[in-house]
Amino acid sequence: MSVYSIGVDLGGTNLRVSAYSADRGLFGLIQLPTRIRDGRDAVIDDMCEAISRLIARYSSEYTLAGIGIGTPGPLELPVGRIHAPPNLPGWDGFELREAIEGRLNRFVVLECDANAAALAECVAGQGKSFGIDSLCMLTLGTGVGNGIILKGEVWHGINGMAGEAGHATVWPDGLACGCGSRGCLEMYASATAAQRAAEQAVANKTSSGLSALWQKNPEFTTKDVFEVARSGDPVARAIFDKVGEALGIELAALINTLNLPLYVVGGGLASAWELFSESMFREIRHRSYVYRFTEPDTLFPLEAEPGKTYVVQAELGTNSGILGACLLPLASKEQPAEVIASAGNA
Ligand SMILES: [Zn+2]
Repeated sequence: MSVYSIGVDLGGTNLRVSAYSADRGLFGLIQLPTRIRDGRDAVIDDMCEAISRLIARYSSEYTLAGIGIGTPGPLELPVGRIHAPPNLPGWDGFELREAIEGRLNRFVVLECDANAAALAECVAGQGKSFGIDSLCMLTLGTGVGNGIILKGEVWHGINGMAGEAGHATVWPDGLACGCGSRGCLEMYASATAAQRAAEQAVANKTSSGLSALWQKNPEFTTKDVFEVARSGDPVARAIFDKVGEALGIELAALINTLNLPLYVVGGGLASAWELFSESMFREIRHRSYVYRFTEPDTLFPLEAEPGKTYVVQAELGTNSGILGACLLPLASKEQPAEVIASAGNA
């Protein structure tokens, strides 16, 4: 019997649960609102109920490898304890893996959501396209997530907290960040940061394009700011230049530190690549001699040239989180013996 897995993408807004197999890809997706206000137990109930539904539906066709859960970090591994996630109030110190394993009596792998997305991008996205099994990914969303994959495996550090480049300092005297530091990357390169800069321009009346947007729709989003920038508004363009500058400063440090072949920029704001990549590459070239030595002739080769550093936009869209969660139990070395035996016979 062939093997499948179940992945859970636990977000502050949506709870997504899906089945996955190598031959079918994602299937049976269940999407629910995350009932944060009803408390942690309500969210756990919803999660377990959706997982059980998928197990009941597919257990006659497949052998379950396990359940992978991507959650907002920081996360303490191997115990699987969540630490003060800003989008999940009341979850601080909660041992999520034990709770789900105890309820469902199944093998559960827990991972920070940015690490799960990086694993998906490595196995099924740009890593696959480039034929490369090691990468560093930055995810530009509400915050800036980061995941490092080395030879096909998530790099956890000593207790699961590696890959927090979203809180690397890019400007020492910059804006105060929720993590307690100042001038963190996510204060300048997240969707939240771009939105804040646009709202400031409206308040200061410095951009006719953004003021017109606000008059038309006071509830405008980063996507609308992107359109104003594309139409040539200099203040809106400068917002994305700043995103690129901050990203370039941090990517140069990562390239100099890690010397990996592939760096991937994903998340909602990455769709503004055409607007921020110029200033991003300018900073990378300026600040990283490792990049200058290893810059490829083209960013989109038919085949990756060995010894070159590629910095590219993510290939997978919004499904990278749920796909990465599904891949976790399949990639785990702690997979139950009966699953390994079943996969061997398939
Ligand atoms: Zn920070």
